[in-house]
Amino acid sequence: MEIIKLDEQLSNYGALMLGAAIKSIYPTAKLGGSAVGEFGFYVDFECSTPVKTENLSKLEDEIKRLLKRAEITSSEKTKSEAIKMFDKACEPYLVELASELKGKISIVKVGNTAMLDCRGGNLPPVAPKVVRLTQITGAYWRGDAKNKMLTRIYGQAFNSKDELAAFNAYREEILKRDHNKIGRELEYFTTVDIVGQGLPHMLPKGAKVLQILQRFVEDEEERRGYMYVKTPLFAKKELYELSGHWQHYKDGMFIIGDERLDDEVFALRPMTCPFNFFCYKAAMRSYRDLPYRIGETSTLFRNESSGEMHGLQRVRQFTLSEGHIMVRPDQVDMMIDECLELTRFFMNALGIAERATYRLSKWDEKNPKKYFGTKSDWNKSQDQLRAALVRAGVEFTEVDGDAAFYGPKIDVQLKNVHGKEDTAFTTQLDFCLAEKYDMTYVDDKGERVRPVIIHRSALGCYERTFAFLLEHYAGALPTWLAPIQAVVMGITNKQDDYVNEIYSVLRTAGIRVEKDVRSEKVGYKIREHTKKKTPYLIVVGDKEREENVVSVRTREGADLGIMNLEQFIGRVDFNTPAK
Ligand code: ZN
Repeated sequence: MEIIKLDEQLSNYGALMLGAAIKSIYPTAKLGGSAVGEFGFYVDFECSTPVKTENLSKLEDEIKRLLKRAEITSSEKTKSEAIKMFDKACEPYLVELASELKGKISIVKVGNTAMLDCRGGNLPPVAPKVVRLTQITGAYWRGDAKNKMLTRIYGQAFNSKDELAAFNAYREEILKRDHNKIGRELEYFTTVDIVGQGLPHMLPKGAKVLQILQRFVEDEEERRGYMYVKTPLFAKKELYELSGHWQHYKDGMFIIGDERLDDEVFALRPMTCPFNFFCYKAAMRSYRDLPYRIGETSTLFRNESSGEMHGLQRVRQFTLSEGHIMVRPDQVDMMIDECLELTRFFMNALGIAERATYRLSKWDEKNPKKYFGTKSDWNKSQDQLRAALVRAGVEFTEVDGDAAFYGPKIDVQLKNVHGKEDTAFTTQLDFCLAEKYDMTYVDDKGERVRPVIIHRSALGCYERTFAFLLEHYAGALPTWLAPIQAVVMGITNKQDDYVNEIYSVLRTAGIRVEKDVRSEKVGYKIREHTKKKTPYLIVVGDKEREENVVSVRTREGADLGIMNLEQFIGRVDFNTPAK
C-alpha cells in the first residue's frame, strides 16, 4: 500500500485559513497554537460559545469564501511590534507565543485576521482548492493539564477534489488494516483499563499466533546452533549500575522497592544482554567453543510514556527474539553474514522481505563521549558491517548517531500502516562489553582473551512483528500462521453429527479447526467466517454426508468444489510458510 503524506506547505495554508475562519465566525475567539504534519493540520483556540462537530461545515464554507475573496499578505515585524499588535487584537495566546520567538517574526494576515506564521511565512504559490475539517477535540494550552482546555480542530488541505478522494480512499484502507482496530475485531488481543496502558492481553487466537511464531523461530535457531536459555525477569539495582541503565535509563525502568527504605532494590529488566553474558561466563570457554550462540525468548519491560503506546506496536511488556553470539575476531564477518541471512530467512517465511529497508546505524563522531571505544574501533567495526551489507547485496542507507553506545548496528526497518518507521530486526557489533563484564575465552596459545559480542534479533519484538503482519495481510494471515485454519459447518443442524465427525478427523490430523453448529442460516455463517478471515470454510449438507465428502471454499470466496477429507488434508499445506 502506498503511503500518502499530506503536503506541509498546503497544510500550513489550510491552518491559516482555519484560523481566519474561526475569527470571522467567532469574533471573540482567542487563537492558540497550531501545527502541521503528515496528518494535515490543527488549530487550537479558546471560544466562549462551545464549537461542535455540526459547526464544522459552517467553518468550511467560511474557508471557501476566504480562499476566494480574502486578501492574504505576509510581513515581518519586530518582537515588540508583534506583541503590541496581538495585544491590541485581544490575542493573549499569540502574545505569549510571540514573546518567546527570537529575531524577526513572520506575520500572515488573512483579511483582517493577523496570525503568527511560525513555519517560515512561505505560503505555497497556489492556495489549496479544498479544505476539509475532520475532527474537534479538546487540548490543554501547551499540552499541560494545569492550563486551560482549548478547542482543537483538525483539517486537511488539498490541491484538488481528486486528491481529497485519493486521500479518503487511503484513510479507509488504513482503517481496514490498522492492527489496533482489526486485532481487536478479530479477537486477537484486548486491553483493560484497570490493568494499565501498554499491557495488551493476548486472547486465544493472538496467543496462538505468537506461539506459532515463537516455535518457528526457536526451532530454526536451534537447528542453526543456538542454545536457548531462560534468565530472570528482574535483577538488583547493582546489575543496572554495572550496565549503566541505572544512570542513563532509570526513568524507563520499573523499579521494585524504595532506595531510601529497602536494603535491596530491584528493577524489571529492560534488556537481556547481561543475563545472557552470565550464561556464557558460567564456565570457562575455549576458542573451540566459539561462535557461542545463545538464544532467549525474553520478556522485557520498558516504561514507555503514555503518548507513545499504540496497540501491539509500543507496549510496556514485550517479548523479544533475543540472541547474543560470542565470537573470535576472525569469525566476525562470517557471523554477521549468518545473522543477516537468518533475518532474511524469517522475513521470506513471513512474506515481508520486500517491505524491509536496511540501515547502517553509526556513531556520532562529534559526540564521542556518548559511546564506548575509540575512533579506530568505530571505523573498523562500521567498515565490517558495511562490507557485510555489500556482500548481502542489499540496498542500505547510513545514519549517523543511531548506533548503540557499545557499537554500530545493522537495522532492518519496517513501516506501519500509518507510515511510522520502526526498527524491526537488528544485528549489532559490540567490541567493548566483553571487557566490562569480564568475558573471556582461552585462545589457541592458551591465553585468556576477549570475545567480540554480536547482539541480534532475527524476528524482533514478537508483538510488534505480529502487529506488522496483521497490517501487511489486512488480518488474513497465511494459513500456516492463521490461529484457526478451517471451520466446519452444516447447512442445517441435521448434519451436526457429520460436522462433529469431520471436526475430530481434522483436529486429529493437527489442523486448527473449529465447528459452527449454531442454528443460523448457512449463508450468514459463511459471511461471518469470511469476515473472521478463516482460510478454509467447509460446508456439508445431506448430500455430502451421504457421499462422505465435503464442500470447500476459501475466505477469498473461491469455490474449491467437492472432495473427500483426505484430498482436502493433502491439498493444503497447513504448516509450512509460503515459499
Ligand atoms: Zn544485547
